Amino acid sequence: MERFDCLVLGAGIAGITAARKMVAAGFSVCLLDKGRGLGGRFATRRIDGQSFDHGAQFFTARGKLFSAEVQNWVEAGIARPWFGKPGHERFCGVGGMNRLAKELSVGLDVRRDQKVEWVGFADGVWSVRSNQGALEGNRLLLTNPAPQAIDLLETSEVDCCVDFLNTLSVIEYEKCISLMLLLGSELGLSESGIIQSEAAEPIATITETSVKGITDLPGIVIQSGPEFAEENFGASPDTVFKRLTDALPISGNLDVEGMSVQKWRFAKRKDHALECFFNEDESNFIWHSGDGYNAPRIEGAFLSGERVAESIISSLSVNCIPTTQEPGKR
Ligand SMILES: Cc1cc2nc3c(=O)[nH]c(=O)nc-3n(C[C@H](O)[C@H](O)[C@H](O)COP(=O)(O)OP(=O)(O)OC[C@H]3O[C@@H](n4cnc5c(N)ncnc54)[C@H](O)[C@@H]3O)c2cc1C
Repeated sequence: MERFDCLVLGAGIAGITAARKMVAAGFSVCLLDKGRGLGGRFATRRIDGQSFDHGAQFFTARGKLFSAEVQNWVEAGIARPWFGKPGHERFCGVGGMNRLAKELSVGLDVRRDQKVEWVGFADGVWSVRSNQGALEGNRLLLTNPAPQAIDLLETSEVDCCVDFLNTLSVIEYEKCISLMLLLGSELGLSESGIIQSEAAEPIATITETSVKGITDLPGIVIQSGPEFAEENFGASPDTVFKRLTDALPISGNLDVEGMSVQKWRFAKRKDHALECFFNEDESNFIWHSGDGYNAPRIEGAFLSGERVAESIISSLSVNCIPTTQEPGKR
């Protein structure tokens, strides 16, 4: 069986950030993601060849570390300021959010379409089974939303320390429904291409994709508020379409040429009192990170990925020699 210094469950921004840092430190890392694409909630879907960001629409950079990272992305041409005053810009990926995730994961061993179904720890080594086989890791990093991490650990009957499980159980999420529409004509709702509703219900944001600059043809992404999502999570796409488009600030009919609906069970993390950047059970060599810690947004997930990587690197450095170390690298 293949064995890595660290197995990372999830190739969202937290998993990719952590993996980049561990690989740069010379360790062997494999990321497993159940999705067909990369990026998790950094998500883009195509309708008739047009790209729609249906997870995060934009990101902010408030702290020094993430601001410097975003500056690198901008210089590399994979992110750009979208709207907002200088110093308070909202950024987005060039060509779609998940293109940014793809660029960030160049050089990483990412295995897609691999849903991790079972994890087990024996004799100091983690085994991970997915729908496509099994792998081993000296360390295990979970970056899926905490409720999914709990389910996986319970199903696998893993014996983690109580503090680790208690911390996971504090992290909860709101739902969101994204409705993507390819249109025959522009709506012209806003100059920037985004309207953020103060009421947040039933619609939280409306993005005009051609104004945002990710589609050639007119399109919109309507993202619901959490109450709407809770009430309509089981509703059909047609019902979601009717209820959300009825609430649009337009008169007349929409000229719809294509439609897709994405229901997010774990969209935005609810507020909590945790102050840590990640969660660890170091004696069992398992960590959890992501937007469950720090800020409930992309910056928070990035910082969590950075910090958790430092912790895993220091644990690996005590216990083993990196398997991919290049001469002179460390
Ligand atoms: C609709 C929506 C709008 C948002 N808007 C914004 C915004 O405007 N600005 C902002 O900053 N943030 C926004 N966010 C939040 C932001 O997207 C997240 O905070 C961030 O992307 C979380 O990254 P992450 O790596 O922690 O988790 P994720 O991106 O969720 O990554 C976790 C990964 O784990 C994978 N996974 C889960 N279970 C398994 C399994 N069993 N096996 C294998 N893989 C698995 C998933 O496929 C996923 O790729 C939004 C989110 C949503 C959903």
